Amino acid sequence: MAALGDLPVQDTTVSAELFDRAGRAIPGGVNSPVRAFSGVGGTPRFIAEAAGWRLTDVDGNDYVDLVCSWGPMILGHAHPAVVDAVARAARTGLSFGAPTASEVELAEEIIDRVDPVSRVRLVNSGTEATMSAVRLARGFTGRSKIVKFAGCYHGHVDALLADAGSGVATLGLPTSPGVTGAAAHDTIVVPYNDLEAVSAVFAEHGDDIAAVITEAAAGNMGAVPPVPGFNEGLRAVTADHGALLIMDEVMTGFRVSPAGHYGLDGVAGDLYTFGKVCSGGLPAAAFGGRADVMDRLAPVGPVYQAGTLSGNPVAVAAGLATLRTATADVYTALDANADRLAGLIGDALTAAGVPHRVQKAGNLLSVFFTDRPGPVVDYDAVKATQTWRFAPFFHALLAHGVYAPPSAFEAWFVSAALDDEAFARIADALPAAAAAAAAARDPREETR
Ligand SMILES: *Cc1c(COP(=O)(O)O)cnc(C)c1O
Repeated sequence: MAALGDLPVQDTTVSAELFDRAGRAIPGGVNSPVRAFSGVGGTPRFIAEAAGWRLTDVDGNDYVDLVCSWGPMILGHAHPAVVDAVARAARTGLSFGAPTASEVELAEEIIDRVDPVSRVRLVNSGTEATMSAVRLARGFTGRSKIVKFAGCYHGHVDALLADAGSGVATLGLPTSPGVTGAAAHDTIVVPYNDLEAVSAVFAEHGDDIAAVITEAAAGNMGAVPPVPGFNEGLRAVTADHGALLIMDEVMTGFRVSPAGHYGLDGVAGDLYTFGKVCSGGLPAAAFGGRADVMDRLAPVGPVYQAGTLSGNPVAVAAGLATLRTATADVYTALDANADRLAGLIGDALTAAGVPHRVQKAGNLLSVFFTDRPGPVVDYDAVKATQTWRFAPFFHALLAHGVYAPPSAFEAWFVSAALDDEAFARIADALPAAAAAAAAARDPREETR
């Protein structure tokens, strides 16, 4: 990373060596692309351990964690209640391939929290949850088309990687080599927060649309909440046309309120997908919803869905312990911490004269560098922000021991474990980060 100015210099020798070695064994050195720091450059930090808000890397540097494993760690890292539950479960057997009581308890916990959900099936990742929900919606309705929104991420399901077009509804085109035209053909991509585009698509294809899938509040193009009436409008148009509404709450579920985003706007989907928080940090996820729809799944119904490790007792123990520990005061703390973080970031950027908008969706937040007035409402607007300010901002934070998401297009995640010491460190780091963002130059202007 050039031009770090007078930032504190961290020793990253061991991380750099590991990244080099990883690159020879693992494509790009990582098992999920964003970890490679491609969007910001520099050496990804290899993490040795974590506790509470503190991440410690293999060189001994430590950081205030504002990524939280991309959402799951609402209680902070290595919370004793979760670690104890995992250890207890592990001691009594890692996997049986037969039902266990704890799976029932986790399903019941989810059903208790989210009113529109009366049946749940556990899976291993959010991707599996959305893939299964889409198959079920198609099986239930006997229709083939799926409507999704540009900038919404639903895991790397072939049909849901389609992300074509903006402004007008476009027929989905594969955005990744390896996704066939056939897999993307039945995906229709429309701009987020654009009910008129959704209505136009239903006017043309209404009888063929099995489902609309949406992030209950978008978090994968940065935090972009639904505009007032948007989720309600999706509910109405899908119901009018006999299509299902799939609320993807993999990111928002059990984070933005005890009932996820449903707890904030009360708009009921037919199907829900969950992951992240309800996994407690181990590989687990879930989908659920209306009993008449869910009961079309094998073995009661004809729609096949299965998993050797689904409902794994150790993963379920982590998820259940996390949800049971996440009482009302944890949610109060998450909201307060998000407000406090947003306030600190906004103050620092304002003081440095950096045009910005700190935007929240519940307690998810994002920093958009923009001088346009009003909220950022869709993917085109996100892409039009001054994303070139992000890398220097990020690296200045990192150098001061604050680990923000390494991409301008990701949400920031707080935990309930953030305390005054963590916020003092964030407050100390921000002036340099804001100065770095202020000094950044648009690369397109430099080449003119
Ligand atoms: C993270 C995420 C997924 C995918 O979950 P994985 O466990 O990474 O497969 C799906 N939908 C949303 C909204 C997500 O944020």
